[in-house]
Amino acid sequence: MKTTFNELNLPVPTRVIYGRNLIDELRTFFPATVRKVTIVIGKGSVRRSGLLDRILTPLQKHGLETTVFEGVEENPSWATCLRGRDHLLRQGAELIIALGGGSVLDAAKAMALAATNTGSLAGMIERRDYLQKPLPTMAIPTTAGTGSEVTQYCIITDEATHDKLNLHTPHSFPWTAILDPVCTLSMPRTITIGTGMDALSHAVEGYLSRRASSESDRLALESIEMIGKFLEANIREPHNLKLRENMLLAASKAGAVISQTGTILLHALGYRLTLDHGVHHGLANAVLLYPFLRVTQRYQPQKVQGILDALLGTHSTLEDLKGYLMRLGIKPDIGRYGVKAGEFEAIARYVLAKNNLPDTPFSVTTRDIFEILSVAMN
Ligand code: NAP
Ligand code: ZN
Repeated sequence: MKTTFNELNLPVPTRVIYGRNLIDELRTFFPATVRKVTIVIGKGSVRRSGLLDRILTPLQKHGLETTVFEGVEENPSWATCLRGRDHLLRQGAELIIALGGGSVLDAAKAMALAATNTGSLAGMIERRDYLQKPLPTMAIPTTAGTGSEVTQYCIITDEATHDKLNLHTPHSFPWTAILDPVCTLSMPRTITIGTGMDALSHAVEGYLSRRASSESDRLALESIEMIGKFLEANIREPHNLKLRENMLLAASKAGAVISQTGTILLHALGYRLTLDHGVHHGLANAVLLYPFLRVTQRYQPQKVQGILDALLGTHSTLEDLKGYLMRLGIKPDIGRYGVKAGEFEAIARYVLAKNNLPDTPFSVTTRDIFEILSVAMN
């Protein structure tokens, strides 16, 4: 039987293929010369959902040598990436298949780089323009949010500095991305919402970024509009494959946006909630989105209006956004995650030193940060 699939044209070097049940036919999408494949997975969701077997069985039938590197944690550490690198080198892997959420995809991309280069995480970041090409990675997202399947970024937690660092090179884009809505069916409601919000914040931040272009703006607005149309519907109908597919497409479009623009203040703030209070990455952005846009509106009123219109319809207001977030169960109440007003000073210091700040379209002050956090405290 001939495999039916579609291709999504994005301004990234990654080939993006989408369609239902593509995971049963992955062999179609890589060269016959590839004989040794390592599949990188997280803590077990893809075993429980049966996705891993659906990938492994046909590859083994084709006589490929397959191994599985299991156990990538949320917000993956460099130590995990090094263990993965050792696994790849032991097997002599020719292709990596990353099957999981953004954490698995990022870790696999970092392992692919570590397999062909030496040095510490900080050292590799410093030499990033001079690094060797990584092993090829086929990225198969099981969440619809991070867009890691089409970005060059590997967001890795550096245990030494207790920070999320961004390792990337011009060559660290996945070689191919497979968007199969079957892979996101098993996502629980909270992860569907959290990752959908991550995609939204990528499109929003990319649209606001000083590095935005007419091409990235067009993609960002398309993505925001799709999220407005499909995320709530997807929450109501979690088994609807068309909605799942559209959320994957929206997330990849937003990923292509940030591959050009980077993220800005909102992500830098969200990182502290994740690192210090364990809040899921997408949810951390979501709880800060309303106060972030409230402050941004003072400096960029037209762009903020463009975002609201694309998400919620013409002439929508920030109050409408608040209502939308509440319907998704996102309350601006970071206190419930254990954040205390006494931390604001340290958060502000961290954020002001972060390298995604210069692309924020206004000159961020400690007062802006205090205002965002105070509103988010409710
Ligand atoms: P994640 O950290 O990859 O996964 C969160 C949880 O969801 C895990 O417990 C995972 O379980 C589970 N899960 C994933 N897919 C599932 C499915 N289909 N069914 C059931 N459970 C599932 O979440 P994420 O939001 O996708 O990724 C967040 C990471 O991506 C952060 O580290 C963030 O910094 C990074 N990120 C990267 C980029 C980029 O451009 N590279 C952009 C934004 C964010 P298992 O472990 O058991 O699979
Ligand atoms: Zn993100």
